Amino acid sequence: MKIAVIGGGISGLATAAKLQSSGCDVRLFEKNERFGGLCKTDTIGSYVFDRHGGHVFNSKHPEVKKWVFDLLPEENWQFSSRVGRIEFDGNFISYPFELSLSELPHKDATQCILDFLACSRKPESKPQDFRNWLYWMFGKGIADRYLVPYNEKIWNRDLSEISICWVDGKMPLPSDEDLVMSILDPQFKEKNMPHSTFYYPKCGGIQVLIDAIESQVSNKVASYTIEKVEIRGDSYLVDGESFDHVISTIPLPELAKIVVDLPIQVRTAIERLQFNSITTALFKYEKSKVSWVYYPSKDKGAHRMVCQGNLSDELPGCVALEKTGTWEVSDLTKGFDEISPSDFIAKSWTHYGYPVYDLSFEANMAIITDYFREMDIGLVGRFAEWKYYNMDTCIKAGFDYCDALLSKVATP
Ligand SMILES: Cc1cc2nc3c(=O)[nH]c(=O)nc-3n(C[C@H](O)[C@H](O)[C@H](O)COP(=O)(O)OP(=O)(O)OC[C@H]3O[C@@H](n4cnc5c(N)ncnc54)[C@H](O)[C@@H]3O)c2cc1C
Repeated sequence: MKIAVIGGGISGLATAAKLQSSGCDVRLFEKNERFGGLCKTDTIGSYVFDRHGGHVFNSKHPEVKKWVFDLLPEENWQFSSRVGRIEFDGNFISYPFELSLSELPHKDATQCILDFLACSRKPESKPQDFRNWLYWMFGKGIADRYLVPYNEKIWNRDLSEISICWVDGKMPLPSDEDLVMSILDPQFKEKNMPHSTFYYPKCGGIQVLIDAIESQVSNKVASYTIEKVEIRGDSYLVDGESFDHVISTIPLPELAKIVVDLPIQVRTAIERLQFNSITTALFKYEKSKVSWVYYPSKDKGAHRMVCQGNLSDELPGCVALEKTGTWEVSDLTKGFDEISPSDFIAKSWTHYGYPVYDLSFEANMAIITDYFREMDIGLVGRFAEWKYYNMDTCIKAGFDYCDALLSKVATP
């Protein structure tokens, strides 16, 4: 079977590598001169800069972890415990806010605890928009002090326009008992939170994982933008070349530009999908044990600082500031008095950064997925599926897609 994989980010690379190892004739197309998509790293002198946000790896899927460590053995990675911090009223407390209430001033902590325990969380009164859901789930104390202001910064829009379809598995959702335990036992949250540990390449940034995966894919083309996908009965013409199957890992709005005769309702549904762009800038900074810091206050330009230099002992001290939208460096550093213009190293911009789940997202996505399923074009990856995927879930999605495709071919 001859398969075209469009897009050479981690989803396209992992999918192509898996198909190739299963004996398929695969060709991977990437428009950029470098593979990696959102996982690209620039090396600037002795500094490494993950251009689209610091990328740490971990996975709850054993087969993904094994595959990654077979390609890039564990001794190439630094294994760390996450040290997340949140700035609150000029001080720093641990992440996540709702399980770190014992670190707040007593008056704030008491209000947060009482409001949390007073939440009924009755399913019949569960709000479907993110703003009201935050109050329903966490109570006014926690919502007002952290979750609402931080999320308003990162989503860059009114939270009542956002659906809650994405929160399960992405946000810590503590029970009353978890909250009480976190106050009694400071180690509780680290033992019970997902993603409390992670791996990061000792040298070279996340790019070294991409390079390792890329080396497995033999038939690949970089600096090549696919411009036309034509559906011809049981086969496909991709820029005029015939394939038996097509898998797209590119963002849906980019796919809409190249699929010939895309029905108007599918095009409209894709146009209605929302996303956020991100500006990221790297600065010299003192090394410490901190992994990243969240800034809910409007007084600070950036919403997050990723301590890129702390992710590996072998890297020099530096941090990346991130801010949703398109910004100048000075917009990011607003309120960060410890960072001076001479600390600036590099800046980057990410067009497709975060999928945004507006209230019509699920209806739009149903139209889109129904159409591509009917046309038998595979959609795999963060903006191909419009899902809040991490690298490991991209790999897993690619593997699952390959397994389903191969078993379909084996049992006609
Ligand atoms: C700020 C930020 C921080 C993150 N942090 C982490 C983290 O710490 N850990 C983690 O696991 N994940 C993290 N992620 C998520 C991770 O980056 C993504 O899940 C993953 O990289 C998505 O890969 P992808 O291949 O699906 O998409 P992409 O990386 O977007 O790849 C799509 C590719 O398609 C190419 N393309 C587009 N159009 C065409 C065309 N017409 N022809 C050919 N090629 C085309 C693009 O150039 C691109 O290379 C983060 C993401 C962001 C934005």
